[in-house]
Amino acid sequence: MSDFTVVPRGGAEEVGRSCYHLQVDDHDYLVDCGLKQSAPPEYPILRGVDPGQIDAVFITHAHIDHIGGLPIAEHQDLLADDTSIFMTRPTNALASILLHDSLQIHKQETAELNQPQQFTATDVKRVLARVTSVGYDRDHHLNITYEFGDAAHLLGSAWLAIEHADRRVVFSGDLGGRSAHLGDIDHPPKADELLLESTYGDTMQHRSFTDARTELYRQAKQAHASGIPVLIPTFAVGRAQEILQIFREREPDLRDAVDGEPSIVYDGMITESMPVYEVFCQDAFMGESILNYRINSGDVEPFTPECAWTPDTMDERERLLTGNEAPIIIAPSGMLTGGWSPYYLRDLGQHYDEARVLFIGYQAEGTPGRQLLDAVGDVADLRVTALPAGEEYDPTTDEFAFQEQEIRIPTEWMREIGGMSGHAAANDLLAFAREADPQGISLIHGPPSAAAHLREYLSGNTDAKTIQVAQRLEPIEIESGSDAETESERKNRVEHAASGSDSGTDVEQLLQRQDQLEAELEAIRTDIERLVEANRWQILTIGIITEP
Ligand SMILES: [Zn+2]
Repeated sequence: MSDFTVVPRGGAEEVGRSCYHLQVDDHDYLVDCGLKQSAPPEYPILRGVDPGQIDAVFITHAHIDHIGGLPIAEHQDLLADDTSIFMTRPTNALASILLHDSLQIHKQETAELNQPQQFTATDVKRVLARVTSVGYDRDHHLNITYEFGDAAHLLGSAWLAIEHADRRVVFSGDLGGRSAHLGDIDHPPKADELLLESTYGDTMQHRSFTDARTELYRQAKQAHASGIPVLIPTFAVGRAQEILQIFREREPDLRDAVDGEPSIVYDGMITESMPVYEVFCQDAFMGESILNYRINSGDVEPFTPECAWTPDTMDERERLLTGNEAPIIIAPSGMLTGGWSPYYLRDLGQHYDEARVLFIGYQAEGTPGRQLLDAVGDVADLRVTALPAGEEYDPTTDEFAFQEQEIRIPTEWMREIGGMSGHAAANDLLAFAREADPQGISLIHGPPSAAAHLREYLSGNTDAKTIQVAQRLEPIEIESGSDAETESERKNRVEHAASGSDSGTDVEQLLQRQDQLEAELEAIRTDIERLVEANRWQILTIGIITEP
């Protein structure tokens, strides 16, 4: 029997640095190659991989814990000269933004520690040049057949099936199903082995997403109507668009609630990633409701309320929070680890007696966000990395010196809003596992306690013969067990997924607009290159920590 093995090189017994090494006879593949944004950052364990050994890479989605290790693999020459990196088209567009940002953070971190860089701009460039972008399709490459299906976790996110001989392994990627602008999770094919994420394996069911959206809006509106500024720290790609969409949908109500013009500000990489969301607002990658809205309304910026704007200069940012204005600010760095969220938080602390900070995402141990939520007493003292304030900032130089600063924030400003996660909980992970109906399940991408909990839950509720928590560097043999999917079963599954994509007569108009936006996207790419070369990219993006 031919060899068909998966070796986890990261993303086993942990969240972060997802990387699974597939050995299929004499070919080697990687599925994802991420980095873990810890201090110091951790990369996949690539020792034992020879130069040029990797024949192809498949990427499930653009979050940095799934792509951030690619430049390292490139730097270490592990990819063969003609190695392609397969990913969906939106993943390709987002990856070019996120990898450049990751490079800036890496440069800054290594400079601070006086250490050599482990990858460079050249590596990022080479990685992006290797990309073959695809749809949610099925195709052959070398000695395998691969299929991407919608994972509904982030724009362009996918699960991935790999087949060889009569065996099939399915990688769940990160599974979502909790977004107002993405579609549903596509049905996976039957698998012999399923590598299943377990991030929220210990949460049976999330709060309803609709409730979470309503609460976020209600809290922000209440404050805005009372002249109290609001800060929503968030992941810049995906969740930020999710939040802005909430305000776009409810803008008439917001206008009724406030005196004068409402003011919603978004900043940093949220601005950079927005055109990608607009370009890819088409049925293959977006959910039906936003597509219909876009077609029916003609609104080509379906993620941006009319009253939302983005500051271009430091002066504009300074004027925002002088104590007189009370905007709703949506800013990157969901855990306040660095960049625009701590910058605005610092200013709020300096100029306002009353403000709201709405936390919508997971706050990891050791982050300023966690410290704030855990603080006892009336105020929290924390150290954040932010641009220097007002007069200390020198606009004549290109140096944006981010400094550690001590800030003091009243603890009563904090609000935690649950249920906004982009990850499926245990009930939906079970549903996915049942559809794939595998012989074996290996749990990946989860804190050990969540994975253990999910293992228990799946044991009683699926027909899988073995359910294990995958261990780092422990090979998983893909053995034939389940009946192969027949051609008619496959057709059924795929047709089911495609139903409902008939969007009416305005499709042509939409496609035209898309061509236009594709051209704009190209211009953005050129801009990124230019800004990176001029060393000014940092000011736009800095400090993103992406949702795992
Ligand atoms: Zn993710």
